[in-house]
Amino acid sequence: MKKGLLFVVSGPSGAGKGTVCGEFVKLTNISLSVSMTTRKPRPGEIDGKNYYFVSEESFLKTVSAGGFLEYAKVYDHYYGTPKDPVTTKLAAGADVLLEIDTQGALNVRREWPEGIFVYILPPSMRELRRRITSRGTETSAAIDLRLGESLKEMDRIDQYDYCVINERPSEAADSLTAILKAERTRVGPYIYETIRTYKEEMRCYIHPSI
Ligand code: 5GP
Repeated sequence: MKKGLLFVVSGPSGAGKGTVCGEFVKLTNISLSVSMTTRKPRPGEIDGKNYYFVSEESFLKTVSAGGFLEYAKVYDHYYGTPKDPVTTKLAAGADVLLEIDTQGALNVRREWPEGIFVYILPPSMRELRRRITSRGTETSAAIDLRLGESLKEMDRIDQYDYCVINERPSEAADSLTAILKAERTRVGPYIYETIRTYKEEMRCYIHPSI
């Protein structure tokens, strides 16, 4: 069985990662990993769909039990990717999408170098500020924190394989789909695994001496 591809998307808060990833999931059926967080739900967010909203105590218990593929403290709250669902899906051949911050992405890259790492940028910094402000969910101090963080994050762009500018979410999602398709055909771990299974299969048909 071929392993799935691990697709990791990061970008500054307000770059529109959530919308782009939502469209990308619809286009490709990639399985979106649901993270665990200690942040409170925003209006309209659903536990188990957007995040698993948990207490700090419960989060730290999962950390001690080694239950995260990666976790990070972002803007004063913990966020983590539950390990088992991701590794089970990949082993079963399904592609998995993580939408996580740059610290988390760099940690995943160490563990999973064959992953595909994509950074999403907004069309401009002015638009980024407008998007964060218009959400109306953050205080002005929290907005400044997020904008400051986005500047630091951009210095880590070299750790990514691709960068998509999100002018329109549907076009950005098309770009992610094109990247996924191209990566499936790249001569690398995914293709090596395919060739390994083909060789095993061929052993059933040909004489052992060949
Ligand atoms: P928000 O609070 O706006 O939903 O997310 C804040 C930041 O946390 C975003 O950059 C988002 O990508 C990141 N994030 C969400 N889930 C995870 C996770 O499981 N791990 C890490 N490292 N970051 C995450």
